[in-house]
Amino acid sequence: MANNWNIPAELEKEVRERDKIYVYCGNEFLSHKESTKASASWEHIINDASIITKENICLCCRGCNASKGQKQLSAWLQTKYCKERGINSDSNAPIIKRAIANGQ
Ligand SMILES: [Zn+2]
Repeated sequence: MANNWNIPAELEKEVRERDKIYVYCGNEFLSHKESTKASASWEHIINDASIITKENICLCCRGCNASKGQKQLSAWLQTKYCKERGINSDSNAPIIKRAIANGQ
């Protein structure tokens, strides 16, 4: 069984247990009803849908996901969107810090 994003149920469970706040902006999860922009979405840190590992899959808000789009992580962190929101390598969740350390 995999979800719509091709993420196996086991991995989905693991990621949901790990990511309790959004990995980039650190905001609390909101339901789709409360805010579309601040609801959870599946993120591939390296923008390649074929990399389905717990190192590459995480939960971020729709706003961050839409802003990051196809950009490489380090390039996205330089954008106005991130600067305005104080999103940087210090504010990111450990999984993101690791990705940056690995050259993303
Ligand atoms: Zn966010």
